[in-house]
Amino acid sequence: METSRKVFIGGNWKCNGDRKFVFDHCALLKAVEFDSNKCEVVVCPSSVHLDLTLTQLNGSNVRVCSQNVSMNENGAFTGEISSKQLVDLGLNWTLIAHSERRQFFGDDETTIGKKIKLALANNLNIVMCIGEKLDERNENKTMDVCINQLRTLVSNVTDSQLWDRVVIAYEPVWAIGTGKTATPEMAQEVHQGIRNWVSENVSNDVAQRIRIIYGGSVTGANCNTLIKEKDIDGFLVGGASLKPEFKDIILSYQN
Ligand code: PGA
Repeated sequence: METSRKVFIGGNWKCNGDRKFVFDHCALLKAVEFDSNKCEVVVCPSSVHLDLTLTQLNGSNVRVCSQNVSMNENGAFTGEISSKQLVDLGLNWTLIAHSERRQFFGDDETTIGKKIKLALANNLNIVMCIGEKLDERNENKTMDVCINQLRTLVSNVTDSQLWDRVVIAYEPVWAIGTGKTATPEMAQEVHQGIRNWVSENVSNDVAQRIRIIYGGSVTGANCNTLIKEKDIDGFLVGGASLKPEFKDIILSYQN
């Protein structure tokens, strides 16, 4: 964590929770006293709970983020949710390219590129997820995979000012939901590699400003050592974001 960058903590609820969970968990989130000048917090409920979560978090500093967004404008796209509809609802964040979307729902680089471009054009901020699978890490392809995914991002951020609306989430696929967190050293190495690549391929200014957050089995127990790494600017949290320990992860910026 570099104090010049505001820490970013995302809670990805995935396809979990019911209305009672939303009521209870939002009450818990509202009670967390964090400094919004130092830390930005978003939660990503399932789309059927976006509206309820917004209502329940009204008056707090916790923002609501979609887990996904359509690559299309409004129209005949059954089952899709457009960026315009998210903005109209009152959202200003969406995840893009989570590994589960890449793996199970056919989000390839072309689809992801369209989503990035349209979401930014419609004034959404984006958390762009990248990361390697286990076999790719074992074959020493981690940076190659990340760079390939970053190229999709760079080619769809068409105006330099739009970079202020982008967060990069490095989420090694082998660490997601497995309890196998990357060590702080492993995560830092990739985060530094990403920042260097952004510096060389976008600009040093953007590289110094952009938040690069880590995701993959982050917990209340391991967040405090991870956040100490220079290039780790926060977390995207799955399983632990559904639990009271999410509070400890939010407050890890105080370390
Ligand atoms: P996890 O999920 O924290 O349960 O590993 C992270 C994510 O998928 O964003």
